[in-house]
Amino acid sequence: MDSPILKLKVVLLGDSSVGKTCLINRLITGRFNPKEETTINAMHNIYDFNFQEKIVQLQIWDTAGEEKFHYLAPMYYHGAVGALIVYDITDEPSFERAKFWIEELHRNATTPVIFLVGNKIDLENQRKISLESIESFAEENSLFLMETSAKTGENVEITFRALAKQVSGLS
Ligand code: GDP
Ligand code: MG
Repeated sequence: MDSPILKLKVVLLGDSSVGKTCLINRLITGRFNPKEETTINAMHNIYDFNFQEKIVQLQIWDTAGEEKFHYLAPMYYHGAVGALIVYDITDEPSFERAKFWIEELHRNATTPVIFLVGNKIDLENQRKISLESIESFAEENSLFLMETSAKTGENVEITFRALAKQVSGLS
């Protein structure tokens, strides 16, 4: 018997250079390309997760650099059931901006599952945002919190998998 496939759209949001494209590439290719060009990627990428009998397919949308202007077209958000809001743990403004992206998401998508993702944990010695302050922010706003490194791969698959699980309602 064929396994049912759930196809779910998720989006990556966050300021330019926080590592959104590298996170998707790490998940899909298993590699890190430090010279990642922001605009070369397809608009969305497909990744299948297996949960026992069920296959959950994430359609992962990436920006093409337009987040620099702090504006993304409504179609980017349309139909998204989940989002990774990414910031760079070495860059305080990117965390402040994450709050703006969360508001944008709420304005444009209906009750999405939100994961707040602190990327670049391989640069722990340059951390600018304490884990405690992020934890309290995540708790106040009912967000899932993860920390990743697209460079080393730490927590990347785990994060997308946790998102897939949440948006699909599988437990
Ligand atoms: P985007 O603009 O959010 O899509 O960011 P990119 O994926 O293009 O990455 C921006 C820059 O951050 C690039 O120079 C990457 O090499 C670098 N980068 C991305 N992820 C990581 C990471 O986990 N660790 C480190 N040290 N650098 C990263
Ligand atoms: Mg990018």
